[in-house]
Amino acid sequence: MNTIMLKAYAKINIGLDVLGKRPDGYHDVRMIMQTIRLYDKLNMKRIGKDEIILKTNLAYLPTNENNLVYKAIQLLREEFHIKQGVYVELQKHIPVAAGLAGGSSDAAAALIGMNRLFHLKLTKADLMKRAVTLGADIPYCILGGTALSEGIGEVLTPLAPMPRAYIIIAKPPINVSTKYVYENLKLDEQTKHPDIDGIMEAIQTRNLVGITERLCNVLEEVTIERYPVIQEIKDTLLSYGAMNALMSGSGPTVFGVFQDLELAKKAFYQLKVQGKAKQIYLTDVFNRRRG
Ligand code: ATP
Repeated sequence: MNTIMLKAYAKINIGLDVLGKRPDGYHDVRMIMQTIRLYDKLNMKRIGKDEIILKTNLAYLPTNENNLVYKAIQLLREEFHIKQGVYVELQKHIPVAAGLAGGSSDAAAALIGMNRLFHLKLTKADLMKRAVTLGADIPYCILGGTALSEGIGEVLTPLAPMPRAYIIIAKPPINVSTKYVYENLKLDEQTKHPDIDGIMEAIQTRNLVGITERLCNVLEEVTIERYPVIQEIKDTLLSYGAMNALMSGSGPTVFGVFQDLELAKKAFYQLKVQGKAKQIYLTDVFNRRRG
């Protein structure tokens, strides 16, 4: 096997809580992660030359060690003293810097690809242990599906699959700095925290209403205060029939949850007409875990 094609799926946060800042500067989080059927594609090929060649369809993305795919490949090449090179074509579809873990998911796919291409025989747990050194969300991207994510994001508990639902993804054309959002997050008595345990119970009982009425992201207020367009997109989704809508990660992407496909299609076209979000997708939850 010289060539391999992998899909790298985006995630949304059904619930996102920040418990506090740690002495090392990271934050302790408690999040419910969910994979959606929106993905980048990676074509990986073994080559004779001792180098990593990365091509992408987005001219502004780095193709050197600043790209997480490059880093992931380099990590395993160094550890296993692999002399053969790798040629990768990365086809991006997941909006970049959007709160959808696009880069993390690409890195996860690259680790899995390397494991297969070079027969490294690493287990999923082995890959996840290495993944966290590249980014806190990458172990989850290796696991996929529905999961509780704790610690800095690397302590994972797989959950029952999320009930079937259609998801609209809408990203306004703004760049949100994750650093800005965390720096401006003031955790005090007034902070509205998500009911993560309640969401887990609703997932367990396959209660989509119970899940959607608890959608909550502790970072949302900080980002919306700076970028009101996020609230406007949420309002549009809600007025066009979303069961609920929420910002994912530190933003700026908003997602809306729908049970009814026709309703979701109407909201999708309405968002297009409104023009406030520039990248809009109609997709659904994706529950298959990686093998
Ligand atoms: P998260 O939800 O984990 O915060 P995100 O969706 O907000 O992630 P990414 O799309 O992963 O953010 O990209 C953040 C930055 O990482 C970009 O500005 C980009 O330059 C850099 N980056 C490195 N590798 C990649 C990659 N493979 N795909 C996208 N961005 C990448």
